[in-house]
Amino acid sequence: MKIFDSTLIRLTFWYVGVLALILLFFTSITYFLINSVLDSKTDNTLSEIALAFEKTAQGEFSDEEDKNNPAGVTDAIREATVDVGFKNYKVFVFSAGKKLVSASDNSKLRDDISAEAAAGLLGKSGGNDNTKIEYFTRDDESFKVLLTRFQVHDETFDLLIVHPLEEQETLLEKIAYVFLITVPLALIFASFGGYYLAGKSFKPIAEMSEKAEAITARNLHERLPVENEYDELGRLANTFNRLLSRLDMSFEQQKRFMADASHELRTPVAIVRGEAEVSLTKDNRGTADYRETISIMQKEAERMSKVIEDLFTLSRADAGENPVSKQSVYLEDILSDTVKSFRSIASKRGISLQINIDDEMPIFADEQLLARLFSNLLDNAIKHTKSFVKISAKIENENCIVKISDDGNGIPAEEQNRVFDRFYRVDPSRSREKTQATGSGAGLGLAISKWIAESHEGTLELISSDTNGSIFGATIPMPK
Ligand code: ADP
Repeated sequence: MKIFDSTLIRLTFWYVGVLALILLFFTSITYFLINSVLDSKTDNTLSEIALAFEKTAQGEFSDEEDKNNPAGVTDAIREATVDVGFKNYKVFVFSAGKKLVSASDNSKLRDDISAEAAAGLLGKSGGNDNTKIEYFTRDDESFKVLLTRFQVHDETFDLLIVHPLEEQETLLEKIAYVFLITVPLALIFASFGGYYLAGKSFKPIAEMSEKAEAITARNLHERLPVENEYDELGRLANTFNRLLSRLDMSFEQQKRFMADASHELRTPVAIVRGEAEVSLTKDNRGTADYRETISIMQKEAERMSKVIEDLFTLSRADAGENPVSKQSVYLEDILSDTVKSFRSIASKRGISLQINIDDEMPIFADEQLLARLFSNLLDNAIKHTKSFVKISAKIENENCIVKISDDGNGIPAEEQNRVFDRFYRVDPSRSREKTQATGSGAGLGLAISKWIAESHEGTLELISSDTNGSIFGATIPMPK
C-alpha cells in the first residue's frame, strides 16, 4: 500500500495544503498592506515637513532688518533649519548655484547622509518646481528623499529632505520573521491536529469494516454499530444494515425454499421407496398387484417431476433467467383453449363452466406461460368449487382483465394474503389431489402464476374470497 492510498493521509495533506495557501495569502496581504501604510505615512510626513520648512523660512525673513541685511535670506533659512529639526529627517537647502546653504544637524541619525551625497542627488534629479519624492539606495541602505523648490524674498532655493528607511525595514523584517516562524508552526500543528481529527472520524469506519468482515452467511442477523444515526457515518451504517437485512431475509427465504422443496420431494420419494420395498419383500405377487404398485410409483414420479419443474421455473425466475418469449397473440384464444382442456374434468365432477370471453383481445405475451397461469387458476377453482366456475375476459382501460370465480368455501380471511407465497397451502391434504396436469399441488401454483402475470407487466390478485366463493383476477396490459 502506498502512502497516498490512505484516505486519512490524503485528507490530512489536502487540509494542510489548503491551510498553507490561505495563510500564505493572508500573510502576504498583511505584509504588503503594512508596507504601503508605512510608505504613505513617510511620504505625508516628508511633504508636511517641506511645507513647514517653507513657511518657517519665509516667517523668519519677515522683518525689515532682514530685508536690509544682504545675508538675511540665508540666515532665515538657517534658522528655519534649526527650528524644523526632526529626529529622522535630515534637511538640506541649496542655493540656485547648487551651493549648500544649510543642513540640519542630525548627528544622532545612524545612517547620516553627507552634504555631497545630497548635492549628488539634487544633480541627478535636475531640480524643478514640482515637489517629488524619490527612493534611493546607497551602500545597502535605503532612503526616501523629498525634493522641492521654494522662494524667500525673490531668491530660489532647492530643499532636500532625506529620510532613512531603516526603521521601517526593520519593522517589516520583524513581521516577516514572525510570519516565517508562525506559519510553518501553525502548519505543523494543523497537520497533527488534522491527522488526529481525521483519524478519530475514520475510526468508526475501521470498526465498521472489521465488523462487516466478520459477518458471514452464518451470522447475517448481526448488524453494524450505529453511534449517531444522523451523521454521515451513521447513515452509511444504517444503509449497510438495511442491505444486511435484505440479504438476511432473502437468505432466510432461500433456506425456507430449500427446506420446503426437499420436504415436498421427500414424500413422493418415501412413497416410491415404500412401494418398491413392499413389492420386493412379497414373493409371487399377481400381475394386478404389480401393476398397481407401478402405477402408484408412476403417479408419484409424475408429481415429483412437476414439483421439480415448478421449482426450476421459480428458481430461474428468481435468477432473472427465465425465458419469456413474447409474441403477438389473442388472449381469448389462449383462454378458450385452456378452458376446453378442463371441460371433461369439470363435467365429471358435475361442475358447470360459465364462459363469458370477449373477442379481439390482442396482447404481446408468452402463450405457454399465459396458458399455465389460466390453468393454475382454473385448476384451483374446479378443485375448490361446489357447483360452477365462471370465466370472464374483457378489456378495461387498455388492460385485459380475466376473472375466474367459483362458489367454493373460499379462503379464510387470515390466510388470504399468504396464498401467493411459495409452498403455501391452505389445506395441504386437499391441495395434493390435483385435477389436471397443471401444478404440483405443492403450493407453488399461485406463486408461479403471479410471477407470470408480473413478467407481462400485469398483476394477479385475489379480488375477493368468502364462504360464498372466491374471485381471482389477472390483468394483462395491451400493447401500446
Ligand atoms: P396448489 O398448487 O397447491 O393448489 P396454489 O399456489 O395454487 O397451490 O394455491 C395455494 C393455496 O390457495 C391452495 O392451497 C388453496 O388452498 C388455496 N386456493 C387457491 N385457489 C383457491 C380457490 N379458488 N378457492 C379456495 N382456495 C384456493
